[in-house]
Amino acid sequence: MKQQLFIAFEGIDGSGKSTQVKLLAEKLRQEGHKVYSTFEPTDNPIGSLIRNIFKGRMTADHKTIAALNVADRLDHLYNDVNGIIKKLEEGYTVITDRYYFSSYAYHGVHVDIDWVIAANAMSAAALKPAIHIFIDVPPALSMERLNSTRGTIDLYETLDNLEQVRAKFMEAFEKLKATENIVFIDGNQTIAAIAKDVWENVSDIAK
Ligand code: ADP
Repeated sequence: MKQQLFIAFEGIDGSGKSTQVKLLAEKLRQEGHKVYSTFEPTDNPIGSLIRNIFKGRMTADHKTIAALNVADRLDHLYNDVNGIIKKLEEGYTVITDRYYFSSYAYHGVHVDIDWVIAANAMSAAALKPAIHIFIDVPPALSMERLNSTRGTIDLYETLDNLEQVRAKFMEAFEKLKATENIVFIDGNQTIAAIAKDVWENVSDIAK
């Protein structure tokens, strides 16, 4: 059995994260890893509450949403049935579609980014990914993809907001580059070309 890894994908909505999570999971399985793929917001109760806000079924202030995400992430880590820490202990390589950098970026647009980073300190101290893979796409391209494939558009999915979110991702990466392993991948390529770039980065650490 291969040494298990914890890998996080980051990017704005429509950047191709979930597509690449699936492809990387398949590749790692071929290489002999047991793989558990997961995502944030989770589908546990706190994550479901957050999704209801995103879908406009209920409203909440941005500070409340930022705090709910802190709680959802702690549950994602520590849940004793399907938490990331438990899965790693069971020998799985875990790939998550979004982790704390998504909070820094999405909530940093509305709430002081340093507060968001501090509020997530418990998660960052508990478990840092071996690698954060940021799939970078121009917001106009991601909006085009979302508009052509999705029936509904979420709270954050406007061009103006995604421009601001992308800028906050960059601000957060710059702030934390000394302590986090971050790779940037050009998301404006074919799905196969992106998967190849992802694998080049992951194969280095998946020995
Ligand atoms: P995310 O999980 O980041 O929101 P998805 O992986 O769901 O993004 O991709 C959003 C949409 O764009 C999907 O319809 C997907 O098939 C499509 N897509 C993903 N990657 C690419 C790509 N490299 N080129 C063109 N379309 C893509």
